[in-house]
Amino acid sequence: MKIQFDNSYARLPEDFYSKTNPSPVKSPELIKFNTELAKELGLTGVNPDSLEALNVFSGNDIAEGSEPISMAYAGHQFGGFSPRLGDGRAVLLGEIVAPNNTRYDFQLKGSGHTPWSRGGDGRSALGPVLREYLVSEAMAKLGVPTTRALAAVTTGEEVARNTLVPGGILTRIAKGFVRVGTFQYFSSQGNQEAIKRLADYEIDRHYPDAKNTDNPYIAFFKLVVDAQAKLIAKWMSLGFIHGVMNTDNMSIAGETIDYGPCAFMDEFSHSRVYSSIDHQARYAYGNQPKIGQWNLVRLAETLLPLFIGKEIDETREATDDEAQAVVKIAEDILSNYSELYHQYWLENMRKKLGLSESHEGDAELINDLLNIMESNQADFTLTFYYLSQVDQSEQARALFSQADSSDSAGFDEWVVKWQERLKEESSNEEKYSAIMQTVNPVYIPRNHQIEAAIRAAEDNNDFSVFHALHEVLENPFELQTGKEAYMLPPEPEEVVHQTFCGT
Ligand code: AMP
Ligand code: MG
Repeated sequence: MKIQFDNSYARLPEDFYSKTNPSPVKSPELIKFNTELAKELGLTGVNPDSLEALNVFSGNDIAEGSEPISMAYAGHQFGGFSPRLGDGRAVLLGEIVAPNNTRYDFQLKGSGHTPWSRGGDGRSALGPVLREYLVSEAMAKLGVPTTRALAAVTTGEEVARNTLVPGGILTRIAKGFVRVGTFQYFSSQGNQEAIKRLADYEIDRHYPDAKNTDNPYIAFFKLVVDAQAKLIAKWMSLGFIHGVMNTDNMSIAGETIDYGPCAFMDEFSHSRVYSSIDHQARYAYGNQPKIGQWNLVRLAETLLPLFIGKEIDETREATDDEAQAVVKIAEDILSNYSELYHQYWLENMRKKLGLSESHEGDAELINDLLNIMESNQADFTLTFYYLSQVDQSEQARALFSQADSSDSAGFDEWVVKWQERLKEESSNEEKYSAIMQTVNPVYIPRNHQIEAAIRAAEDNNDFSVFHALHEVLENPFELQTGKEAYMLPPEPEEVVHQTFCGT
């Protein structure tokens, strides 16, 4: 099997990673191979039905040109700093350069013990593999920057979680797996040289425009801030909750990474939390923008010495004035994050309401709707979907007259205001409905459906539910005949109240 690897991270100094081979598994079987993605990546030499491919995706064989490593990183987990985390259950097999000239990391998750595993087994249960496959691929189709799923396999082995459950391995593709926590790893060791090396690497790989500026590191930081603001605004516009926005789970390349206890909301609530371990609701839906900023402050702290500029080197300490000046620069960039985020959010939300122009009062109109949705426990995705239909009002209205606390009058008043606002643009119903249908999905990976797919696979070795759900999610904006059930929120007995990390 021919994969053209070119492993730039493995050429960085040795303290950036550990050389780690995946550990073989007993009797792997392929669950799913992402043919479309493989094509985009130029992986024409991979025959998914071959034993060779199965051996690579299960870690039983190391493809030619692969130099497996587990990456070093630290991170703030729920606000507390761990100086040594690293890839405890993942191995970067190598990098490939796709036909679009973008470099991608090719990683196995659940491939066994690494020097970073601490007490863990380095393995992944099948459930989280299926969940990540479904959600990350759905995110890609919904237009959200994300890591992708290339393949999923069962291992033929069991892993011990609360009980013994089947094991799985996911092959993930990312623009890059460097995290805020990677910078923190070197920063906590006072290793300035490594931070510079890492920043240069990330600039070269993801943000080359930063190079032709007065201070490439400041420009780099601004670009990372921008990418995060954009990403989180997307999440918010789709009702997505990452669930574990630790600094080790925030990618420098601006992709959604590390799908753990993530979830799409059914009934809308600003304070919604699904993660079983998020006891303080730190990563609740409505907190995500603010947490994004908190994480970026942590990144800024690691970059401050680089902000001071070229003239400072090992031979001279920065003066107090110089140090203060760069703190001010970082603070300005970080406070601009809120405005940037707000603009991206407005951009997304305006489209969701069919608005092409920017008018004063738009934020209020959007927030009014969200508040009415919250007090009526309306379904996030369905509300916007029904509003997107030319004959929307009756169906949407029905969503607002179900709950005990329902206030459909509030919704009716809001619709009048919305219609007035639409009239301020030279638009008509067909036109704005068409805009709305490009951004308001019919289908999202709903928790109860993911749960059903996992249950069938884990309990009965039946992957048909997984495959059927995946197929629907490939075209999230298109109403598919016979697939109406996938649109619907859960019945009371199907509601998933908690999601788990699956570690
Ligand atoms: P997460 O927040 O799930 O991305 O993981 C946080 C840290 O725990 C990372 O360093 C992971 O590599 C590590 N980890 C999670 N699960 C396992 C496992 N089963 N075995 C070893 N390390 C793990
Ligand atoms: Mg992680």
